Amino acid sequence: MAAINDNLTSGAVLGAARRIVIKAGSSLLSDAKNGQLRQSWMASLAQDLCELGRNETQFIMVSSGAVALGRKALGLGDGALALEQKQAAAAVGQPMLAGAWQHAFTPCGLVTAQALLTLEDTENRRRWLNSRSTLEALLTQGAVPIINENDTVATDEIRYGDNDRLAARVAQMSGADVLVLLSDIDGLWSADPNRHGNARPIPLVTKLDDTILTMAEGPNPVSNHGSGGMITKLEAARLAMRSGCTVILASGVGEHPLAALMTGARATIFTPSGAVRDARKGWIAGTIQPAGSVYIDAGAVQALAGGASLLPVGMYRCDGNFTRGDVVAILDDSGHELGRGIASYGAEEAVQIFRLRSEEIAQKLGYSARAAMIHRDDLVMHNKDKRHDG
Ligand code: GLU
Repeated sequence: MAAINDNLTSGAVLGAARRIVIKAGSSLLSDAKNGQLRQSWMASLAQDLCELGRNETQFIMVSSGAVALGRKALGLGDGALALEQKQAAAAVGQPMLAGAWQHAFTPCGLVTAQALLTLEDTENRRRWLNSRSTLEALLTQGAVPIINENDTVATDEIRYGDNDRLAARVAQMSGADVLVLLSDIDGLWSADPNRHGNARPIPLVTKLDDTILTMAEGPNPVSNHGSGGMITKLEAARLAMRSGCTVILASGVGEHPLAALMTGARATIFTPSGAVRDARKGWIAGTIQPAGSVYIDAGAVQALAGGASLLPVGMYRCDGNFTRGDVVAILDDSGHELGRGIASYGAEEAVQIFRLRSEEIAQKLGYSARAAMIHRDDLVMHNKDKRHDG
């Protein structure tokens, strides 16, 4: 890892990287005017990656663009799409996208591999481990995984919807040390530079706190294509930072976007926050959609802060239809999320054991049961000082 200081450059980060995930947004893949693939741009990015690959750096592409390409091919126009139209567009656009990436990497002698993920592939522990082994096998064989959400089967309720957070989860899954989010936004600004003459670019973020989030909540430039605005990019950055990954947020509009970063193009670099070293805990912390939540009292808040397991005696309410083994959010009295963990009891059992002491639980449920609602090995507390901290 490149040393962290105010002068940290994208070039230093990329040069020291061992494994990089690059996310390219829809606006980069397809031409806004005619909806055609930007093949020459893709070839230029592939060349940049091959150049980086000379140092044995491995890379994974997370590529958007399936819906944008498919909607053009099907003549679906520019308006909002119904779910089934989006699914159909992705089914048409995805093979075009995958073929174009193979074409782009062929001159470097590299084979590409398409992997389409759904939200369950990252949120379900068993499927996460399966997907991780597949990625590992592909990288070991020297193939370049080209990942997208499986939009053809994703529904509005169960989907990522944006590839920024998907890319962050892929970075975590693959143990990447760098995530590059390429879009038509050249990094984070203190405000929208098109509207505020005094807006300044933010070159380095070491802590993703409320001050930074406010910058995105303000009128920052948001991509016209694709689904991820600045907020989702910051959420993605936070997810990746938590798993020890450095994030580079940069414009990919011009050709050779990585070569440009190597030679000083503007970007925002987000440095890793206290990384969760334990892979299983990292997975828990990175859950996109916890299956439910449990509310805990002040005594339990204190016990958890001291490293204890969450016991039913400190629990008084739960929401959501979670089952045993699901990841749930842990909330305090005021509804602030304190951490996440794997539930030892499903919601139906949990409501029966609120406020019970360990010895009373088996009696209530009628079978011998676990003492903890969430065992400390299955528990990750967020930073205690700042709620929004990475
Ligand atoms: N998965 C979508 C696609 O390929 C893009 C999602 C996004 O815009 O981030 O079209």
